Amino acid sequence: MNPCEFLFETLSIRGESRYGMEKLNQMEHALQCAALAERDGATSALIVAALLHDIGHLIDDSAFANKGETNDEHESKGADVLAKWFGKEVSEPVRLHVPAKRYLCTTDGDYHDGLSRASQRSLALQGSAFSEEEADAFILQPYAVDAVCLRRWDDHAKVADLNVPRLEHYRPYVEGMLVSSNSSAAASV
Ligand code: FE
Repeated sequence: MNPCEFLFETLSIRGESRYGMEKLNQMEHALQCAALAERDGATSALIVAALLHDIGHLIDDSAFANKGETNDEHESKGADVLAKWFGKEVSEPVRLHVPAKRYLCTTDGDYHDGLSRASQRSLALQGSAFSEEEADAFILQPYAVDAVCLRRWDDHAKVADLNVPRLEHYRPYVEGMLVSSNSSAAASV
């Protein structure tokens, strides 16, 4: 199975699961996140990252079973899988999208209160807001600015019953960003 088929099948089957404590499922959340990126004129890489940013919740069995009581590190698990098939411009914003929340809690005074209750709760598990020094160091990392953009789409992609393009709409973006279509990689995840 090629990576695009594998990822789309994973999203289609496991994406029916609820998105943590939110009022929509994982597939709806992924589609809304990608739609926001596309609406804002993001690069193809960031649109793909937005679509697949929570794939770690779905691919990794322990993260899939997690009920939000511990930090599942889904961002690292997802990024490691994506790095098999995509360049860093896709995998690294995914890896940094949780630290980007900690960054925004420190640097944007209104950010924390705008988060959903579920996202406020998970923040404590993810390490709480950065110190000023940690925030300064974070934003200097490669792809950190992209991760902050992704984070804002992620935070707004939680609307129940929103009409957005379907998964197939993103196939050209995903296939266009693949740097490896090694089918054995998909089989070994
Ligand atoms: Fe998310």
